[in-house]
Amino acid sequence: MSGRPLQVAVIGAGPAGIYASDILSKSDLDVSIDLYEKLPAPYGLVRYGVAPDHPRIKQIIKALYNILKRGDIRLVGNVEVGKDVSFAELHEHYDAIIIATGADRDRPLNIPGAQLPEVYGASQFVYWYDGHPDHKRTWPLNAKEVAVIGVGNVALDISRMLTKHPDDLMVTEIPENVEQGLRRSPITDVHVFGRRGPAQVKFTPMELRELGEVPDVDIIVYEEDYQYDEASEEAVNSSKMKRQVVNILTDYLLDQAEEKTASRRIHLHMLQQPAKILGEKHVEGIRMERTALQGDGSVKGTGEFIDYPVQAVYRAVGYFSSPIPGAPFDEKRGIVPNSGGRVTDGPDGEVLTGMYATGWIKRGPVGLIGSTKSDAQETVNNLVADFNAGLLHATTNQLGWHAMENLLNGRGVRFTTWKGWELLEAYEKELGAKAGRERIKVVERETMTAISRGEKHDGKLY
Ligand SMILES: Cc1cc2nc3c(=O)[nH]c(=O)nc-3n(C[C@H](O)[C@H](O)[C@H](O)COP(=O)(O)OP(=O)(O)OC[C@H]3O[C@@H](n4cnc5c(N)ncnc54)[C@H](O)[C@@H]3O)c2cc1C
Repeated sequence: MSGRPLQVAVIGAGPAGIYASDILSKSDLDVSIDLYEKLPAPYGLVRYGVAPDHPRIKQIIKALYNILKRGDIRLVGNVEVGKDVSFAELHEHYDAIIIATGADRDRPLNIPGAQLPEVYGASQFVYWYDGHPDHKRTWPLNAKEVAVIGVGNVALDISRMLTKHPDDLMVTEIPENVEQGLRRSPITDVHVFGRRGPAQVKFTPMELRELGEVPDVDIIVYEEDYQYDEASEEAVNSSKMKRQVVNILTDYLLDQAEEKTASRRIHLHMLQQPAKILGEKHVEGIRMERTALQGDGSVKGTGEFIDYPVQAVYRAVGYFSSPIPGAPFDEKRGIVPNSGGRVTDGPDGEVLTGMYATGWIKRGPVGLIGSTKSDAQETVNNLVADFNAGLLHATTNQLGWHAMENLLNGRGVRFTTWKGWELLEAYEKELGAKAGRERIKVVERETMTAISRGEKHDGKLY
């Protein structure tokens, strides 16, 4: 032991990075933690993924805020590892690195027509309505009928956001440009498609039930989609959550007897897989193939095709992580290869001393925010065990933040701090207060940065 604190850099200030920092700071180790975040705002997908009409989930931000407010974890915002500083530089200056960079893009959908301009990744739409500074400020909401491919919560989020009337979103923190965009939308019907049956959908019960509570939006389901094979029965019998989901879907089916009068509809289709997106230059429809359960919960195409007239297709078939240049990455699984959070030099490879991973980059883009906490616990336990085994502190010249601050200033990187985030947060809340809302997000990165750094800015919000 060199008599100085262990210098640890955490990359990514989403829930995984914040929880890992918190758990590590409460361990027995004498540790100094620097939390690097590429955006001027912390909280990752809680701010830029969770839908704005989920304020209860956004409350998790309060717990994350309370961790960072303590001041024993140094937030270094507006610094992208792999761009503003290299992974190698970070590795050189810290005893240990925890990668917590999450997942930021969509899995591709490989079917004919997927290259048409109105085929969108769900993440891009989510970034637009959540006001991510690095993504589009306008969104082409021209379609009356839309297909959403995928039956997870992201598919529910985007279907809800596409159909919900903007007046029902005004209590939320949506940016002004999003409100204006949604007001112009002519949408009437969203068709959500899943390949498998009711027992295989990935929705969680609360989110599925919530769909039926959106004002002036009817849920339409189809009796022929309610099929169960042996594996389905087993899944429903062995999982309370699956049972709840199937019960809610059954309630929607029973509800079909009621007259439907809403001006917008969400159709939940199951046992259909996309075969082709129709149209030469623009999306004019989608061809779906009916599937049949095979007994083990898997499906096969039946050769029966159904065309739906839609003018846009959203693929919500899963998020996918991006690599940090210079850091190990498993291209196939889209994760940093690791064993219990200890980074390895490849799938089933050797452990790389002093390198760790946590959150969605560690285990793939599945699981709610809560699961990033238990995940961080495992990673930090292994880091602490490695320290106790004398594996860290391999060199004595890591200077952590002192070296990095000089390096960032030398490069003119306008990094932001926790105090800076508090300034930006106060600004957003003030904007919100003027409009009778809790907050209005600042989207423009330059404005976010300038406000955080106490610099002059032109007040441009998006
Ligand atoms: C659309 C959507 C809706 C969701 N809704 C819910 C919900 O309602 N309830 C719920 O419990 N869960 C929800 N989730 C899941 C939840 O968001 C995740 O479980 C959680 O955010 C994963 O945490 P993470 O820290 O691993 O990744 P992230 O939240 O993605 O955080 C990663 C952070 O790393 C930063 N970063 C990335 N690369 C770099 C780099 N090179 N240098 C520096 N920083 C970097 C990113 O900017 C980001 O801030 C939702 C997810 C999505 C996609």
